[in-house]
Amino acid sequence: MIKVENLRKVYKVGGEKVVALNNISLHIEKGEFCCIVGTSGSGKSTLLNQLAGLEKPTKGKVKINGQLVSKMTEKELATFRQNNIGFIFQSYNLLPTLTAVENVAFPLLFRGEDKAVREKKAKKILKDMGLGERMNHKPGEMSGGQQQRVGIARAFVGRPKVIFADEPTGNLDSATTEQVMKMLLEISQQNNITFVMVTHDPELAKMAPRIITLKDGRIVSDMRNGVSLLEEDMLISQQRSQEENQTASRPQADRQ
Ligand code: ADP
Ligand code: MG
Repeated sequence: MIKVENLRKVYKVGGEKVVALNNISLHIEKGEFCCIVGTSGSGKSTLLNQLAGLEKPTKGKVKINGQLVSKMTEKELATFRQNNIGFIFQSYNLLPTLTAVENVAFPLLFRGEDKAVREKKAKKILKDMGLGERMNHKPGEMSGGQQQRVGIARAFVGRPKVIFADEPTGNLDSATTEQVMKMLLEISQQNNITFVMVTHDPELAKMAPRIITLKDGRIVSDMRNGVSLLEEDMLISQQRSQEENQTASRPQADRQ
């Protein structure tokens, strides 16, 4: 679903160059739930921004669902995002004057759907997320956890192929964080939605099947269900299993 090739991002700050991403390559499968971890400043948000087409890379390619996002114009990107991408933000980014239903229905406005249809879809999702009693509340009348559930519903309402989330639990307490994380994993699994989530919390990332670790703008670890996807690690494990096969196929006496 997501293919990244030799991605590089350099920021220029007052004559100085900051290499935020250095030669990043990765594949994320359809329906995969992927956490990007790393300490502050390691390049997590920069990577997410390049994947979502919010910023243009200095070098390299980003493809989503076969489309070259890194080369799209702003107009092409806007349409592409409307039809394929959902976003979840750390600070929820809900519109304060709109109710929960109106906030969730909002992205569908740009698809030209009727108000009644938009609100029906929004209500169904809010109910499914246990917010049936909060439909007509405004963000200021809800807890952080409830607001983030509205934020998740809004990201999901258009049935996107990919959802990007930058520290979605960053403002929540630990119990709510776990609830929200479980909800995200469930949504991804049940709807075959690809999730890319940035977090600085390695413990939280462990709940995800795929964990990519960044350090100084490079991938230093890439694990899927406990197996490394880094090329050098794959070569080593291939070699190991070949050696084991050879040993196993040799006659008994030869093995001593
Ligand atoms: P993280 O999200 O892992 O904390 P970032 O991706 O925000 O890290 O930042 C990676 C590096 O790039 C840092 O050194 C940061 O200061 C730098 N950086 C990020 N965004 C900008 C920008 N817009 N202009 C200049 N430097 C930036
Ligand atoms: Mg960040």
